[in-house]
Formats: sequence, structure tokens, C-alpha cells
Amino acid sequence: MKRLLLFSLMACVLQMVHATEKTIQSPQGNIVVQVSDENGSPAYKVQLNGVEFLKSSPLGVKLNCADLTKGLSLTDCQVKTVSDEYDLKTIKQSHVVYNATEAVCSFDKDGKKAMDVVFRLTERDVAFKYHIYPKRGTLAAVVEGEASGFVFPENTTTFLCPQSKPMGGFARTSPSYETSYSLDEPMGKNGWGEGYSFPCLFKNADKGWILVSETGTDGAYVACRLLNENANAYKIGFPQAGEMNGAGTTTAAVSLPFDTPWRTITIGTTLAPIVETTVANDLVKPKYAPSKDYTYGKGTWSWIIGMDSSCNFDEQKRYIDFAAAMGYRSVLIDALWDQQIGYDRMEQLAEYGRSKGVGIFLWYNSNGQWNDAPQSPRDKMDKSAPRRKEMAWMQKNGILGIKVDFFGGDKQQMMQLYEDILTDANDFGIQVIFHGCTLPRGWERMYPNYVASEAVLASENLHFGQGACDAEATNAAIHPFIRNTVGSMDFGGSTLNKRYNADNKSGTYRRTSDVFALATAVLFQSSVQHFALAPNNLEDAPQWAVQFMKDVPVNWDEVKFIDGYPGKYIIMARKSAGKWYVAGVNAQDQAVKQKISLPMFAKNVQLTAYTDDKDLNGACNTIKLKKGEFAVEMPKNGAFLLVGQAE
Ligand code: CA
Repeated sequence: MKRLLLFSLMACVLQMVHATEKTIQSPQGNIVVQVSDENGSPAYKVQLNGVEFLKSSPLGVKLNCADLTKGLSLTDCQVKTVSDEYDLKTIKQSHVVYNATEAVCSFDKDGKKAMDVVFRLTERDVAFKYHIYPKRGTLAAVVEGEASGFVFPENTTTFLCPQSKPMGGFARTSPSYETSYSLDEPMGKNGWGEGYSFPCLFKNADKGWILVSETGTDGAYVACRLLNENANAYKIGFPQAGEMNGAGTTTAAVSLPFDTPWRTITIGTTLAPIVETTVANDLVKPKYAPSKDYTYGKGTWSWIIGMDSSCNFDEQKRYIDFAAAMGYRSVLIDALWDQQIGYDRMEQLAEYGRSKGVGIFLWYNSNGQWNDAPQSPRDKMDKSAPRRKEMAWMQKNGILGIKVDFFGGDKQQMMQLYEDILTDANDFGIQVIFHGCTLPRGWERMYPNYVASEAVLASENLHFGQGACDAEATNAAIHPFIRNTVGSMDFGGSTLNKRYNADNKSGTYRRTSDVFALATAVLFQSSVQHFALAPNNLEDAPQWAVQFMKDVPVNWDEVKFIDGYPGKYIIMARKSAGKWYVAGVNAQDQAVKQKISLPMFAKNVQLTAYTDDKDLNGACNTIKLKKGEFAVEMPKNGAFLLVGQAE
């Protein structure tokens, strides 16, 4: 007994002595991560320019065959520099040059190599994933959960949207990442009891900002959420048991060796690194080659103004004419087209569109058996044989893409469905937009025919309720800082109708200005945009507004954060084809009045300026900047927009 006690004491001392800590730095040394194994539990902490952004936070995974969260010792961190360069038309930046520090930190358990934590550090992003080794001939394992945590400094505040409980909301379709944000709230809550949807924004008091998300998730894993454990400690959560009506697992079945998706942490003293980060796509690789040279563009969409009854032949023909008049590439034909138009007449519509140079996107229900969403076409997208038959029909008729709706949560089985739809669609040259869905996690680069996802309280809510219209500016001043920073966002906005109805005389009231509608076409990024414009806008909207909506690009070369605060106002700039578009919107009662410096424009260049007066009356003028500065004046629900040649 005495000997045993002595032995345990010695083991304890040995472990304490052997607690190892390794320090990793970003290429220029701004970000420092310390990795340790104190008491056998792997952990990391993050500093930016010597300031603490994450306190010691746990790492590790729990498998059904091994607990890789404790009893581990850090043996080594192999550090090297990695570089990559890629072109991607579907994200905020068309050409990305990536340089990072990679550190492979190896952990032993019971004297054997058990797991590597692979870190990547740039000057704005920290990311890590787990590489799990096979264990004594065990190749099939189940990942039951992760210890991966994020412990924030005291006084951090949160900008988060709660994850819905499963099988709630419209036709039991939740969770589908369609909840409202709480802004600047203290830490310590857990949403509505089920944590928060990614991406999650935190403010490190007056020291800076932190965005936590994940990327590289596909059918080999589950999509995760962020759970609050207590006070300032948050951790990765797996899907909820009730998703998919209780079918499917909350765990991930994997084949060893296995690499998990990446956990990403983007940090900065301002919001610029978060608005400008490309981390979601930097860390992934294409999963297949594009079957054709996919193109991108703008389109019209009757459903947002005209709802279900507008999905008929005559109205869609009118929207094709409208798209042609705008010089747009497509129309999106929403739910019930199979009943209200039918397949034969859809072929006629496709042919008519072709004669006008306008292609078609078609809506589909993802079901399946995971919720009650009744809209048809159903049962065409959930299984390979009918899906491929449908897609062959689309290809024959030149259909450009699909919008698939009403998915069933984040379980591995559902992540596999997203991947299967994308993979099959590529075989037939079809682009894919998801709605009622999860957040995309690096999918623009992983799947070359992927376009965008909803995963936001999108424009439909402006039609459904006045509350969403009243809060439109607040939300527009949130999404470019949070949801849209990590993935393309199919919002379906830029309404020029005064009311959300085809007669433009009934329905909810738009509170925002015409310039606001134009500004969000720049602020919200997606390479295929189906705007909430209506044919009557050719006559009843200002000519300058219609002209801008004809001209606005959908593919961007660069993005720059200028100023703003989530939920209050935003000013940012995007560049396309040698022109900068500087856009701002204001949600506060107080007008935003400030001078901004705009060195991105060529000297003495003439700019087109779209501005609002205090009553939200828009105007379009040609101006020249004085000393490279512009005096912003944005009333509540108003906006401004400057367009001009780049330096
Ligand atoms: Ca939706």
C-alpha cells in the first residue's frame, strides 16, 4: 500500500515535471499560440500582439474506442511554413495568396502516438484540426464528441444567434440557421438552451474582435454548433438527437486515420480581419473538378413579391422578359412549379428563356422524411436514382441550377446529402443553392458547382412580417460582420417595391431607402443573386436605381472593411473589374455623419455617388473627392454608395 502510494505520488510529480508547453507563431509573429498538456489534458491559448484573446482552452476528441481528451502527453510540435495560391470567383476575393505557419503537435497516450493537433496560423486566423491515428488495428471508429473549447477573457461580449431546437418552426423544419442575433450581450447564456449557430462573434472588451467558426465539414463528419459550458467557457457541440425526426446519429462514423474539419478563430483589433478573412476556403481543397466552366450572374425571382401563386407559366414568362430587360442571366422559379406549371410547360419556358438569353434556376424540396414541409417537387433530391434522372432532364433542357430547401439539420447523414446533391449536380453541370439549411463550411472551394446558402433570416421574412422590415437595417448591419464573412449568403434582397406585394399597394412596408437596396447588393456577397426586384420597378423605381441594379457585379476581387459596428452601421468596399464600390447602411436613430478616407480610388477620378437626404430621398450625382475624403451622411434606414475607378 505504501509502495503504491509512493508510486502514484512519483507518477504525479513526473507528470507535473513533464507538463510540456510549445509556442507557435504566425509568419510575422503577430499571433502566438501556446499548446500544452498540463495534467494530461491538451490545451491551447491565443494572443494577438501580446494581448490575450483566448485563455487556456481545452482540446481533444472522444472516440468510442479511445478517450483522446485526457491522459495525453505532448511530445513534439513540428513547425513549417505552408503556402498556397488559388482563384475562386464565388467568394469575396477572386485570387488568394495564403501563407501560414503549420504546427503538427503530436500527443501520445499509453506510450503510443494517439493524435496530432494540426494548427495553422496567419496574421488574422488561428485554425486547428485533429488527425487521429488508428488504434491497434481499429480502423472504424465513432467520434462521440470534442473537447474543443474557447475560453474568452473576462468582459468579452457576444454577438450570437441561437441554434433552434429540432423539429420546430414552419413544418418542423428547424434548425435551419434562421434566428435573430443578440448583440453585445454578456457571456454565460446558452442561447435557447441549445447553444449557437456558427459563425459566432465575440468582442474582447476594447481590445478587439474574435470570430469562431468551422470549415471543411462534409459527409465524413457532423456540422457543429457552439455551446456555453459556463461563464466564459464555450465548446464545440455535436448535432441534437431530435434532428431528422430523431433518426440518424449525433455522432460521426469515421475511418482511421481521420482528419476532422477545422475549427477557425479569426481575430483582430478591428473588424477588418473578420470582414476580409478567407480562412473558410484557405483550409480546404476541391473535392472534384468542375464538369464545366460555371458562370455567375444576377437574376429575377417572382416568389419574394408574388409568393406561391406567382409560380405559374404566364408570370414566369413575364419575369423572364423582366430578366432580359435587366440584362440578367437567370430567373429563379420557386416552389410548386411542378404542379402549377408542370414539366412539359417548364420545357417550353426554358426554351422561351433561351430565346431571350435567360436561364432558369428551379426550386426543390430536399425531402425525404425529416420534416413536414409540403411544398413540391418532393422526393426528387433525397435519393440518387430519382435525383440523377431529374438532373439529366434539367441538363437536357439547359436548366442552370437548383435551389434545394428544407434540410433536416446537421447530423452526418444530412451532411452526406448536401455532398451527394452537389456531386451529382456537377455531373450534369448544375449549380446549387441551398435554403432552409446549414451554414456552408468551405463549400465554395470544395464543390465547384456550389453557389450559396441561405442560413440566415433572409428576405422572405420581409414579406412575412412588418417586424423584419422594421429591423431590416439592423440585420443588414450585422450580416457582413458575421454570417457572410465565412460563406456566400443567398439573401434574395434589394427590393425596390415600396410594399411586399405584386400590386405594390398592399403587404408589409419597406422602411429602407432605394439607395439602401443598392448598397445591400454590394454588402451581401453571393456569386448568383436573385434580387427581390419586380417588373413594375422598370417604371416606378428611379432610373438611376434600376441602372445600378443592371450594372452591379456579383464576382468580387477584393473586400475592405472601412468602419462600422454590428447592428449599428457598416461601411465597407468591394472591388470588381478595376472599380471600387464603397457601400454603407445605417440602422441607428442617429444619422452617421463622418469623414472617411478613401485611398483606394484613383486620384481626381470622377465617382458616381448615391446618397440619401434626411427623408430617405435618394439621388445620384457625379462627384470628385477632396483630399481623398468623403463626408458620409446616412440617416436611419438610409445608405450611401460610391463607385469609381480603382487606384
Ligand atoms: Ca428560409
